[in-house]
Amino acid sequence: MKRLLLFDIDGTLTRSHNGHIPFNEAILKTFGVPGDIRSVIADGNTDPLIIADIFATANLSIEDIDDKWEEFARNLRESYSRAIKSGITTLRALPGAVELLRKLTSGGILGCSVVTGNLEAMAQVKLEAAGLYSYLCRGAYGSDSPRRADLPAIAKQRWEAATNLTIYPDDCIVIGDTPKDFEAARHNGMKCILIATGRYPVQELLCLKADACLTDLTDTEAVIQTLLKI
Ligand SMILES: [Mg+2]
Repeated sequence: MKRLLLFDIDGTLTRSHNGHIPFNEAILKTFGVPGDIRSVIADGNTDPLIIADIFATANLSIEDIDDKWEEFARNLRESYSRAIKSGITTLRALPGAVELLRKLTSGGILGCSVVTGNLEAMAQVKLEAAGLYSYLCRGAYGSDSPRRADLPAIAKQRWEAATNLTIYPDDCIVIGDTPKDFEAARHNGMKCILIATGRYPVQELLCLKADACLTDLTDTEAVIQTLLKI
C-alpha cells in the first residue's frame, strides 16, 4: 500500500521554547516596526498571515509587505539560527517523532513529507535543529502560499515529481495539531490525523471528527497501525 504522510512541524513533530524572540527580531529588522507574535494565535497559520495578523492587531499598515518575504525569510533564518546556537531559543523533536520517522522511512512503504505554515528556510532550520530533516522529502511551506489549504496539493505534486509515482489524494494523510491542518486536509480530499501535542487538547480535536486522533506520537507501533488502517 502506497501512502504519503504530510507532517506539520510546530506542535506535531517539534516544540520550541522562546521562539518568539528571533521571530520578533526578524520582524523589526525587516519591516522596521516592532511586532509581537505573542499578540496573535499563530498555531496552524502560515507565517505571512501571522505577520499580517500581528500588524493588524497593532494597527500598523506596512507598505509593500509582499515584496519583503524573501528578506524576512533571510532575517528570520539568521535570527533563529543564532538564537538556537546561543541557547536563547530551544527547539526539540516531540517524544516519539524521531523513532516514528526512522521506522517509517526505513520501511519505504510510506512516503514522508511536510506541510507547514513556516517559510521553507525556517522549516529547514527547525527540522535540522530537531534532527528530523533527513527523514522528510521537500513538501509545501508558508512561502509557497499564505493559504494553508493550498499547501497539501503542492506537497503531493512535489513528492510525485521527486519519486515519479502517482498518488491519489485519498491515500495522502495530513498529520497535524490544529483545526487548520484538518481543514486543509479536507479541502484537498485527504485524510487527517490530529495529534494533541500542540495548543488544542484531545477533547477539542475529537470534535472535528478527523480520521483519527492521538494524544502523542510515543507509541510508534500504534501510530503506524493507525496510519495503515484509516
Ligand atoms: Mg502545528
